[in-house]
Amino acid sequence: MALGALFPTVTMFPVSNAYAAEVVVQGTVVSTQSPVKLPKIQVIATGGTIAGQSVDETSFQNYKAGTLLMEDMVKALPNKDQIAEVSSYQFGNAGSGSYSMQQLYSLSLKVDEALKTQDGVVVTTGTDTMEEIAYFLDLTVRSPKPVVITGSMRPWTVIGSDAQANLYNAIKLAASGKTKYFGTVLMLNDEFHTAREVTKSNAYRTDTFETPKLGMLGYIDEKNIRIYRSNARSLMSEDKWATPFDLSKISPSSLAKVEIAYSYQDAGSGAITGFVEDGAKGIVTAGTGAGGISKAMGEARTKAIKEKGVIFVATTRTGSGSNYTSADGIIAGDNLNAAHARILLMLSLSFSSDFNTIKGWFDTYGSGQIDTAGK
Ligand code: ASP
Repeated sequence: MALGALFPTVTMFPVSNAYAAEVVVQGTVVSTQSPVKLPKIQVIATGGTIAGQSVDETSFQNYKAGTLLMEDMVKALPNKDQIAEVSSYQFGNAGSGSYSMQQLYSLSLKVDEALKTQDGVVVTTGTDTMEEIAYFLDLTVRSPKPVVITGSMRPWTVIGSDAQANLYNAIKLAASGKTKYFGTVLMLNDEFHTAREVTKSNAYRTDTFETPKLGMLGYIDEKNIRIYRSNARSLMSEDKWATPFDLSKISPSSLAKVEIAYSYQDAGSGAITGFVEDGAKGIVTAGTGAGGISKAMGEARTKAIKEKGVIFVATTRTGSGSNYTSADGIIAGDNLNAAHARILLMLSLSFSSDFNTIKGWFDTYGSGQIDTAGK
């Protein structure tokens, strides 16, 4: 008897152990049963266009977001059992912009709970505020296992929808295990990005997500998952990888109030004074150029710092570039855009009111630089 019959060759797909193995005996595929345990991936669904029901099959923009249930969507997804053992959890079914920070607190805890038994998690949301939800999860989830956030620009029920492909590829990416330690990554349009720098760049196009100037992490081309650069997070030393923002240590009601004030030609003081009156503990300024704000805004900022102890973070409204200048009461937002800086300042103020502690967190977690002393 040929040895090959007793000891069949197991041929793995080259991409990762996420794929079912083929059992080959003397060059012939005799079984497609997987001797490899498939990774367990849970899809945690919150709604958005990906779960959208369109008026008809060609209504690309006329649809009700957050309508379909993830259980049914996963059931309808072909060939998923070739890449993962997929389960789903319906966290909610609404547009991304309608979630409160308190609800995102619960979402983050849910992701960590799922990662106790799962090999990875996919979170589906609307794309409008996906970058903020992604960065919130990135900063708060304790487990280093893959967390992939996805959605779509066309509803599930139209011809040429990106919904099915995005869901499938997000599951594939999470199952590959390749982004372990990358924090939360955002995947749409066969491309994936690091959470801290990705931004929505277009109202309707399917290639809306970009990482300005720095570029995406990698591509998904069928079974090829290619990572072309690492993010600073994945190179952090083990002791710094998990952020100080352990949500299990605070209550959702202690999440701090932080707002964004946008500067422009001769901008008035009203936004800043109004936010302060409304109880904001922190304000992010989206400044012109390298972060400058108008004279009136500057005066309102000085007053808010001196009289109310409000902490400010300076960012640029240009869409890319870094910010380095800090002063008493003002922290430089590095290359975080205003929406991302607001998430970090909100978490920081929820865990401390000490300016230097928060400034230190911005230097450590708000900086996109590679720490060459890290791993
Ligand atoms: N309005 C939707 C939302 O953000 C858009 C989308 O899902 O892409 O929920």
